[in-house]
Amino acid sequence: MLSQIPTPDACLSCGACCAYFRVSFYWAEGIHMPEHYTEPVNAVYSCMAGTNQKNPRCIALDGTIGQQVSCGMYELRSSSCKEVQIADQQCNKARVAHNMLPFVQIETDEAENDDSFEYVS
Ligand code: SF4
Ligand code: SF4
Repeated sequence: MLSQIPTPDACLSCGACCAYFRVSFYWAEGIHMPEHYTEPVNAVYSCMAGTNQKNPRCIALDGTIGQQVSCGMYELRSSSCKEVQIADQQCNKARVAHNMLPFVQIETDEAENDDSFEYVS
């Protein structure tokens, strides 16, 4: 499958992941969000309004997917929103679903000494 190298600002011309998944999170995360931006999923979880339906699109997503988009509550977005990273599996799944090329996945260096890392107190 064709793919492309991601740029750091790729999200600004994409928005696919904001219109593909149900964006759910522990309900308490929604306390600081505008009330009409969230919907209950069950007793424990809420989701972004507009994402718990057949053709999801987050209520906070402004613009045209694949052209120019912005998040209307970027600073308040949920942990689920932050989890999706450019070129990860979820990102590419959402992009392909919106007829955009997936990104080449870039390997990140992992520290080799994590196990023996010691904190200085
Ligand atoms: S699908 Fe990927 S590139 Fe598109 S907005 Fe989400 S994280 Fe950004
Ligand atoms: S809150 Fe913002 S980042 Fe999260 S799904 Fe909605 S538009 Fe996307």
